[in-house]
Amino acid sequence: IDPSKKNSFQRFISDGDLVIVYERHDNMKAVKVKKGSELQNRFGVFKHSDWIGKPFGSKVLSSKGGFVYILAPTPELWTLVLSHRTQILYIADISFVISYLEIVPGCVVLESGTGSGSLTTSLARAVAPSGHVHTFDFHEQRAGLARDDFERNGLSNLVTVAVRDIQGEGFPDEFQGIIDSVFLDLPQPWLAIPSAARMLKQDGVICSFSPCIEQVQRSCEALRSNFTDVRTFEVLLRTYEIQEGRIQSSDGDESYRRITHTRRKRQCISSEDNGENTDKATSIPTVMARPCQEARGHTGYLTFARLNCQ
Ligand code: SAM
Repeated sequence: IDPSKKNSFQRFISDGDLVIVYERHDNMKAVKVKKGSELQNRFGVFKHSDWIGKPFGSKVLSSKGGFVYILAPTPELWTLVLSHRTQILYIADISFVISYLEIVPGCVVLESGTGSGSLTTSLARAVAPSGHVHTFDFHEQRAGLARDDFERNGLSNLVTVAVRDIQGEGFPDEFQGIIDSVFLDLPQPWLAIPSAARMLKQDGVICSFSPCIEQVQRSCEALRSNFTDVRTFEVLLRTYEIQEGRIQSSDGDESYRRITHTRRKRQCISSEDNGENTDKATSIPTVMARPCQEARGHTGYLTFARLNCQ
């Protein structure tokens, strides 16, 4: 995940690397490569030593001829494989947060709570190579585990984890007036907003993530004293399954238009094709899309605001 490492397509797997073993889009896990170790799954036994020296992205075979792909870890993949110690932010919200918080390389960012470090990992990549993320959680064990993950992922030079009750104590004074962006994922974010305002540079941006609209309302009230441009968004990601196919048509373009509109029409047209017009039939390529069953719904509301420059 270390953003200073070169493009994964030019990198070869080494002993000690963290890799993502990809079985399917919904079945991946993080594995530390160790000479002499093996990975066992339903496809058989995979020897780590067979992976060493191969480029990231390679398809590797098991003893039984099954296969998996060995991918380079990215923040996006890490969010899918990390161990859930809390609710986490997923990539649709994360990408929106990073873009609307205007985070670019060199930015200094405050975050609370750290939780499972899903957002933090993407924040670290966004501020690299010269910026920093200071992340706070009041849960000591959770903060420790997140710190271990950042170490394992090569991010400890970009992320500092501290144990602190941000709702009770606010952010440390040492950050006063030098912070580009603040992100809050806390149960009572309005308690941390006055402190966040003191930390931000003029024009700095804050974002608060809350699952309930009542929390959003209270945060907006707290933002009113020091912030401007208050905006709340809900990001709903809709994934479609795409299927390519060919459909028999008897009357060219007109049928094609009807085919792509509704399934009922499609069935109707194919039954026409079985009739007397078959000699005119042509095969038309189609793409069908339907919403994925496993698509996630509501996660939370993202409220952004900019510090009022006076
Ligand atoms: N955004 C994180 C992620 O993507 O992995 C998840 C954050 S999790 C939902 C919320 C975290 O806030 C928890 O780990 C909790 O311990 C922490 N928290 C709750 N109240 C806090 C407080 N007063 N000060 C600091 N952290 C707090």
